[in-house]
Amino acid sequence: MPIMSYYATEWRESGACITADPELFFPIASGGVSVRQAEQARRICAGCHVRRQCLQFAMDFGEAHGIWGGTTPEERRRARLNDAAARRSAARRSRRVAPGTAA
Ligand code: SF4
Repeated sequence: MPIMSYYATEWRESGACITADPELFFPIASGGVSVRQAEQARRICAGCHVRRQCLQFAMDFGEAHGIWGGTTPEERRRARLNDAAARRSAARRSRRVAPGTAA
């Protein structure tokens, strides 16, 4: 992946978070404070016009921290696991030989 493509993300400038406190999206506090910050970030994301691009970026680059596209790291991790399971399942189905077609 060319490094420039990583940063060539014009959509970021249109994000609803452009003027928000970055700590809301990358909480450094712990416990209830970080939960409240993440919830506040997700509310901002809910009204963001580039939410889809933001989430896709986070998924493509495996962003393991912060709120992206309104999702938590745990939600993205689960989505990646579900996607991988779906790909494995599809691959298994495609390898099966249809009845009556075996040599
Ligand atoms: S979806 Fe959320 S994190 Fe992404 S650009 Fe919009 S407001 Fe920012």
